[in-house]
Order: sequence, then C-alpha cells, then structure tokens
Amino acid sequence: MPKIIQLDRHVADLIAAGEVVERPASAVKELVENSIDAGAKNITIELQNGGMTFLRITDDGCGMDPVDARTAFLRHATSKIRRQEDLACIGTLGFRGEALAAISSVSKIDLLTRAQGAENGVRLHLEAGKVLSEEPVGCPCGTTILVRELFYNTPARMKFMKSDTVEGSRVTAAVQMQALDHPEVAIQFLRDGKQVLSTPGNGGLQAAVYCVYGRDFARMVKVDSRWESYTLTGYVSKPTDARPSRGLQTFFVNDRPVKSKLLVSALEEAYRNQIMVGKFPACVLHLTLPPNAVDVNVHPAKTEVKFLSERAVFDCV
Ligand code: ADP
Ligand code: MG
Repeated sequence: MPKIIQLDRHVADLIAAGEVVERPASAVKELVENSIDAGAKNITIELQNGGMTFLRITDDGCGMDPVDARTAFLRHATSKIRRQEDLACIGTLGFRGEALAAISSVSKIDLLTRAQGAENGVRLHLEAGKVLSEEPVGCPCGTTILVRELFYNTPARMKFMKSDTVEGSRVTAAVQMQALDHPEVAIQFLRDGKQVLSTPGNGGLQAAVYCVYGRDFARMVKVDSRWESYTLTGYVSKPTDARPSRGLQTFFVNDRPVKSKLLVSALEEAYRNQIMVGKFPACVLHLTLPPNAVDVNVHPAKTEVKFLSERAVFDCV
C-alpha cells in the first residue's frame, strides 16, 4: 500500500493560507495593497474586535466585473503578471495571486464590486473559499470586501491569536505603515467605530508622517538624495532625538514596506558616534531603485527583499 497521497485542494489551500494570513494585520495589509494596486484614491478600513469578527475595506479603485470577481478568489489568480519574464520586473504590490484565496479559505466573505464604467455591480458571498451566492447589485464603482469570522474553520490558528487589543494594535501598525507608504491615497481607519487615522491623500509624505506619528515628528530632518540610479527620500530623527527602540524605523523599497537588516545597519552606521549606546534613530525612508535591482519574490509575505548590489544600497543610505 503506498503511503503517500497528494493532498486535496482544500487542505493544500489551508496550509498555504497560513503563510499569507497569519493574523488580522496580515489580511489588512494584503487587502489594502489590493486597493492601492486597483488605483484607489480613497480607502476606508473598519475593524471590530481586533479584526477577528469584522474587517471591512472599501475602495474607489477599478473594481471587478462578475467573472473576474469569482476568479480573484482562486489560488494563483492574478491580473498583475502574465508570464515568467514579468517576475523580473514587478510594478505592483501584489503579483502572487494568493491573498484573496488565502483569506477566503479561512473566513466568511462578502464582496461587493463594480468595475469602472459598468452599469451594475456584483455581490458574492463566500465561506471557506467557496462561492455560496452571487447576485447583481447596484453599488458605487470600486470594491468593498467584508471579512468575517477570520480563522473560524482553523482552530489551531485561532489558538495563536492574542487579545482583541493586541491584534487590533497590530492592524493599526499595518495601516499606519500603508499610510506612510502611500501619502497619495486618503486612508481612513476606524477601530470599533472610532476614527484612529485619517490622512489627507495629498501626496505629501510630511502630512502622512504627521498624521501617523503626531507632533514628535515635526522635528525630523528631511532626506532627499540621489545616488546613481537610486533615490532615497523621507525623514530621519536628529541624533539628539534618538529612541529607546527601533520601533519607529520604517523602510520602504519601491513603495513596499520591508524589513531589512541591511537598511537598519546602513542607517545606524550613519549615526555612529553621534548617538548613545542603546538608543536608535527613527526614520521613514523610501528607497527607490530600478525594479531589476531588487528581488521581492523571496517570501510569501513579501516583506523581505534581496538587493542585486548590497554594497550600493548600503552606500546610498
Ligand atoms: P494579487 O494581488 O497578487 O494579484 P490577490 O489574491 O490579492 O492577488 O488578488 C487577486 C486579483 O483580484 C488581483 O490581481 C486583482 O485583479 C483583483 N483584486 C483584488 N482586490 C481588488 C480590489 N480591491 N479592486 C480591484 N481588483 C481587485
Ligand atoms: Mg494582492
């Protein structure tokens, strides 16, 4: 008797989902990125109970027609790349076609979407990744996605969730990151009915930094520099305003929030001998480089990147 079987689709999807949606904050990150990729100018994020019971993202982006709306929830279904060559040069935040499949496989979803120029919209209801109903509806252009009862069918994952307060704070941090990343988009965030964040969407990073970090950041120093084909823009703290942790170091590479030891050490190198031991500079830095000088396809959460030339990146920072 053979002992090896190929897992059926649902089980395989659940395993893969764990890598993309670890908690409400990762679902929010993916959904907001989808709205931005859809060209939205206004995005509203609403959350109840830390996102475990209710998570709604509304955008005024391009929307989807009914056929695309169904396809969007399949694994590896994407409108953002077509062929292998496209992987070398990714210009959107998403490209793996995994997020909607992953989120929908572990929750109950209502999607309301209307493509720009279409007469009608469509409403889909899904549970555990299956479309249970579809009907035409009148709705504004754009997309609203409501995610309920996240992880209701994966008790093992549910057990790892922290309190609503902790999960809610993680969502807040994820939304703040998006707001800093996309000052050109007006982002509203409501947590349990209370407005937590509202950015003007006027394109100014300073306005976004101010909305997110508050007055503390009024004293930061502006960075705007070029190094060969790289540009580095944003704000950094003065050495005298160093922080007790690295919590306020935010890096973006080609508009993608990243975690990078290389960027952290380049930043801190610049402050060497000017800052006390155990204190850290704060920053919001955007590094822009040619798409082929960086590989973002390293990890499902897409927060890690590989640089073609680490030395050049280090020197630039
Ligand atoms: P990816 O973003 O990697 O393409 P997703 O699973 O996140 O994969 O989304 C699948 C597809 O669904 C996207 O490629 C896009 O065409 C469509 N889509 C998702 N969210 C939205 C949205 N808010 N507005 C318009 N289209 C969307
Ligand atoms: Mg996506």
